[in-house]
Order: sequence, then C-alpha cells, then structure tokens
Amino acid sequence: MVDYRDQNAPPGGPYQWGMVIDLDRCTGCEACVVACRAENNVRISGEEEASKGRANYWIRIERYWEGEYPNAQLKFMPVLCQHCGSAPCEPVCPVYAAYHTPDGLNAQVYNRCVGVRYCGNNCPYTVRYFNWFDPHWDEPLNEQLNPDVTVRSGGVMEKCTFCVQRIRGAQRTAQKEGRRVKDGEITPACVQSCPTEALVFGDRNDPNSRVSKLKESRRGFRLLEELGTEPAITYLKKAE
Ligand code: SF4
Ligand code: SF4
Repeated sequence: MVDYRDQNAPPGGPYQWGMVIDLDRCTGCEACVVACRAENNVRISGEEEASKGRANYWIRIERYWEGEYPNAQLKFMPVLCQHCGSAPCEPVCPVYAAYHTPDGLNAQVYNRCVGVRYCGNNCPYTVRYFNWFDPHWDEPLNEQLNPDVTVRSGGVMEKCTFCVQRIRGAQRTAQKEGRRVKDGEITPACVQSCPTEALVFGDRNDPNSRVSKLKESRRGFRLLEELGTEPAITYLKKAE
C-alpha cells in the first residue's frame, strides 16, 4: 500500500526543488509566459486592467538595455517566484495561507486566503499577483482550462507554484515504482516550452542533477541574495 502523504521521503532522502536560468540563452521570446498562463489557468487581464497594474502573470520577462548606441545590447531576465528558503511572504500572512512545503516550495492555500495582500507587499521580487476580479475566459478559451489546476476566484492572491501539479504527479509515479524522481522527469510548463533550454528544473538535493551542477557555475548568482531570502533559483549571468 503506497502512502501518498510521504512523497517527500523517497529512497535516498528528501527532494529540494529548484531552478537554474541561463540569461545567456534567453532570447526574450516569452514562450514561457504563454505556456505558464495556459498550464496554470492564469486569468487574462484586458488592456484596461493592465493599465491599472492589475495584470496577472506568474512569470515575466524583464528587459534591460546595456551600453550606448550603436553598441547598446538588449538583455532579458525571466522573473518568477524564487521559492525563497526564508520567504518574506510567509510569516506576514495572518491566516497561514502562504506556507513552505518540506520539498522547498513556497505554496499558497487559495481557499484560506482572505486577500489582505500583506504577502504581496512583503515580496521583494514583486511576483505575487492579486485577483482583483473573478476570472473570465471568452468562449472557446474556457474549454482549454487545465483540470489539474484550481481556478482562483476574485480576492485571492496567487503566484508561480513551479507547476506543483506536475511535481506531485511525478512524485506519485516514482513512489509507486519505489524509486526517486529521475533528473529531467519534471518539466514545469516554462521549462518545457523554452526553445533555447534557458530554464532547467530539478532536485537540488541530488548532487548529480543538472540543476545542482549548473548552480555551481562561476556565472551563478541569486536575485537580491543580500536580503537573506535564500532563493531556490540560480541565474547564470551573461558571459562577457
Ligand atoms: S519570491 Fe516572493 S512570493 Fe516567492 S517565496 Fe520569495 S517572497 Fe515569497
Ligand atoms: S521561453 Fe526561454 S528564451 Fe523565451 S523568454 Fe522564456 S526563458 Fe527566455
């Protein structure tokens, strides 16, 4: 009999999920942004809501110019929830809707959230998004909602989950087969869709995973690491 409550105790020790993002590979195409919206039922914000700063997207591509014309260079940086090991968004939630899972995910209990938005104010990466209205999808877009992901109602905070539905599915399969999740077996939608393989996802507790090896690169850095947030995402900066 498989005990599904014990998914974080696979053979060889617990998982710690994380990501590496190679900025040298990112072309700013935004395929990840589109894939994330489709996978996670992220509501579509019209032009008017977006103009009021009320657009929702769990991953965004920040754009920077470096240098002066004619030698100016355009740089892109995908920014999503960093799944901080010491997450400033968690202790400020008065109803414990924002919490940490044993395998290193910053999670959100939607039906517990009362919408005070303290978590959003306390996130230094501004990657939490509030649902100002109930979501609406024009036909036939309502036919393409992902049944594995809850549709969030108005008044609820949301953000990237590292596609937890895919993580849990792979963990259950591995547990049934009495093994660990294999490296590369889980691909969040953004990772799966990236044409340049700029994003890599995996287990930071596995020293042989691609994530563990890549994050040791000399090009590696973590966003706003000086704040002590212990992000689970390592960026690889552009090679000079
Ligand atoms: S990036 Fe923001 S939302 Fe994500 S865990 Fe860190 S503080 Fe929380
Ligand atoms: S899909 Fe890949 S290359 Fe395109 S914006 Fe996202 S991270 Fe960058």
